[in-house]
Amino acid sequence: MIESDLRQAWKKPHRIASYPIAVLSVVVAIVAVELITRSLHAEPIASLMLCAVILAAWFGGFGPAVLAITLALLAFHYYLVPPSNSFTWKHNLLVVGISEVPRLILFSITSLFVAFAISAQKNATEALRHSGADLQTAIEGQKRVEAALRRSEMYLTEAQRLSRTGSFGWNVLTGKIVWSDETFRIFQCDRTTIPTVEFIIQRTHPDDRAAVQDILQQASSKGSDFDLEFRLAMPDGSVKYVHAVARAERDASGSVRFVGAVTDVTDAKEAERKLRRSETYLAESQRLSHTSSWAWDVRRREFVYRSTGVYYIFGFDPEKGAVPLQTFRDRIHPDDRVRNVEALSRAIREKADFEVDFRIVLPDGSIKHVHSVGHPVVNSDGEVIEMIGTHLDVTEQYEAQEKLQRAFDEIKKSEDRLRLVIDTIPTLVWRAGPEGIPDFLNEPALYYTGLSLDQAETGWPRAFHPDDKKGMLQKWSAIRETGTRGGLEARLRRFDGEYRWFLFEAEPMHDEAGNIVKWYGSATDIEDLKQTEVALRESEQRFRDYAETASDWLWETGPDHRVTRISEHYNAVGIVPSRITGLARWDVATDVESEPEKWRLHRAVHDAHQPFRDFVYRAVSANGSPVYVRSSGKPFFDASGNFLGYRGTGTDITATIRADHAEEALRNAQAELAHVTRVTALGELTASIAHEVNQPLAAVIANAEACLRWLDNKTPDLAKARRSAEWVIEDGIRASEVIRRVRALAKKSEMEKALLNVNHVIQEVIALVQRKLSSHSVSLRKELAPSLPMVLGDRVQLQQVIINLVMNGIEAMEPVMDRPRELVIRSGQDETGRVLVSVTDCGVGISAENANQLFNAFFTTKSSGLGMGLSICRSIVEAHGGRLSICRNEGPGATFQFVLPLHQEDAL
Ligand code: ADP
Repeated sequence: MIESDLRQAWKKPHRIASYPIAVLSVVVAIVAVELITRSLHAEPIASLMLCAVILAAWFGGFGPAVLAITLALLAFHYYLVPPSNSFTWKHNLLVVGISEVPRLILFSITSLFVAFAISAQKNATEALRHSGADLQTAIEGQKRVEAALRRSEMYLTEAQRLSRTGSFGWNVLTGKIVWSDETFRIFQCDRTTIPTVEFIIQRTHPDDRAAVQDILQQASSKGSDFDLEFRLAMPDGSVKYVHAVARAERDASGSVRFVGAVTDVTDAKEAERKLRRSETYLAESQRLSHTSSWAWDVRRREFVYRSTGVYYIFGFDPEKGAVPLQTFRDRIHPDDRVRNVEALSRAIREKADFEVDFRIVLPDGSIKHVHSVGHPVVNSDGEVIEMIGTHLDVTEQYEAQEKLQRAFDEIKKSEDRLRLVIDTIPTLVWRAGPEGIPDFLNEPALYYTGLSLDQAETGWPRAFHPDDKKGMLQKWSAIRETGTRGGLEARLRRFDGEYRWFLFEAEPMHDEAGNIVKWYGSATDIEDLKQTEVALRESEQRFRDYAETASDWLWETGPDHRVTRISEHYNAVGIVPSRITGLARWDVATDVESEPEKWRLHRAVHDAHQPFRDFVYRAVSANGSPVYVRSSGKPFFDASGNFLGYRGTGTDITATIRADHAEEALRNAQAELAHVTRVTALGELTASIAHEVNQPLAAVIANAEACLRWLDNKTPDLAKARRSAEWVIEDGIRASEVIRRVRALAKKSEMEKALLNVNHVIQEVIALVQRKLSSHSVSLRKELAPSLPMVLGDRVQLQQVIINLVMNGIEAMEPVMDRPRELVIRSGQDETGRVLVSVTDCGVGISAENANQLFNAFFTTKSSGLGMGLSICRSIVEAHGGRLSICRNEGPGATFQFVLPLHQEDAL
């Protein structure tokens, strides 16, 4: 209860109680008058009654004062009634002397005036006192309101700060704008800033300025409320989003004022942006992962949410608005609809998650496979209110799975095929763990070893030959340590106890981390191969032995005829093999310039990739002395027939050549001898013999020297020394034979006829002319009849005939460059059984005009010829009862042949 109410409550009883005060004050005055009158004999009634009136007026107010006046008048009147001046019992109360009336009236007037004045005074004082109290109360109220205001302002400011909402007022007419603290904060300016529309526009983001200006303009001109959102470009470069709302008010003059609020919604905007972005991400991720989400309101029996992905999965465009539930359902494959509904109903009933796969049939007939997962949302009453879930487009996975299944089926089939292959191939196949112990053997392996699969694990080492087991285990662990493919050879026992050589090859299989998980291997029966290899090695060794004994070294050249390989024996020549490698024969030879024709032919043979035999050339040894080399080679080709080079042998024939030179001289002497035998006088002949016999002797000396050199070598080559010595003997015999024949001729002794095999005579001649043939690059072909009857003849003379014919043939082929020079010596029998010898060349041939003169003595077409050869030959042949003639030649060249009669006994 407030103070004024209390005062009111107190005032009412006081006014009622003031009337007794009036009575009491009059009574007190009467008593006082009585007392004073009696004691002082004065007449104080007027003044005392006045006092009573004053008291009544003061304490009771005007009403009680009137009552007091009335009572005072009565008392006064009574007092004045005789006996006056006393308040004793009086009978004539109503008798009032007229003289008393003025007194009474005066008293009444005075009393009334006093009463009025005092009560007025009292009222005024009272009113003053009341108004002072009211003022106090009002001031206190004011203070309370102010405090409340301050508090609420503080709350407001705090609320504004917390809600980031500032308030503003805008008087359009004056342009004055009032901001709250928060508004200043939002605009990031201090309180000294005077907010204006220009300032606001200037702080507005440039992109939003025009729009803001437009809205403010319209709102201010129309006096309408506005609500706008815009950005602020802050001095620090940041951007703030603000939302301003204002209500327009018009004052009495009609001018517009706005009161409004501005809220910093940057955080909300940012959150919204993030939300939107994450929504976009979600939508994108759903799109990419072919997923979508949905929510099914169980009570309303409808989807309350479907992500855009749901639309896409069902083949709808979410942009084209909502699609009725039934339309969605219609797209589900008819066979899957019931199952779908049942799965959902069961999940709701059992309050459990559900998973279901169904198909969607799109309008173009294509099928989509969807995997749907749902989760129930249960409220506090335990009731399922919603099912939320996802649809996952698993078409690709489904197709991939189908493909995978097909692939698996294929793999299974091919695995079966593979197993069939593995079990039927004639190779032992095995598999082992990383520690090397086999855990699989194919059928042939089990069959071969006689092991069962169970025994394989522990029994496999016993299947190896005892001599190979240790080495095999060591090699196998070495292969495993390298972790790479490897192989080994060992003998494996067959079920019947026989051991056969096998090649074991192992290949590791790695897991993704690179660890070996298995070893796969094969064991191939190489027993036959091994035996072949041994045989091959033996044969290789045999041929090497042949080659090495038939020659001094072996060599190989490449397609460019440069040496690629040469055996160390080449050292024998005194040339280091490495010096020769990379060089062609003609790079090493020193007779290329002196014998161009020989080398031209040799190179032609090379270019034609023809084999060559006994090609002799000169080179220089390390110490500068000439060496003679005999080389034979054969071209070799790859499987496609491409030429790869030559392989061949080489022999140091320096010693032989030296001996041959002597032999050649001897032979020349023989030839010359044959020429001059018949034409030179005996004396001249004898002198000539003395001279010519020196030649074989020189050969003897040369061979003897060669023999000594072979013996003087660090390791004496006895074989070659022996050969040289044999040649010495042969040369000596031949020389003495010449002398003996000449002697016989000189003595005119008969020819020394003996039974001869003409083939042997031919062979001897070939041996004698071999050097001549090769130095003239002439190849010799022999066509000797295998069993000829013997003839009776002089060996040396017949040799001279054949030598002459061969020499003529060689010389006739000298100009031939465009074809191989070939000489053919044939032996045989003519139709009458006579022994027949022919020498065919492919030389210049014989012209018809010369044909008749050839056998004439001294007919020659050669600058250095004597023209005696054929004439002597004819004489010798005829002396043997035979005939020498020219035959027609098929091709180019000439053929000379002679026939010899058979020995009489043979003829018989
Ligand atoms: P020479 O050989 O000293 O000339 P020959 O009596 O041996 O004496 O030969 C006589 C000639 O016969 C030769 O000069 C040569 O013209 C010719 N003649 C010999 N043999 C042949 C031959 N095989 N081919 C061609 N002409 C030959």
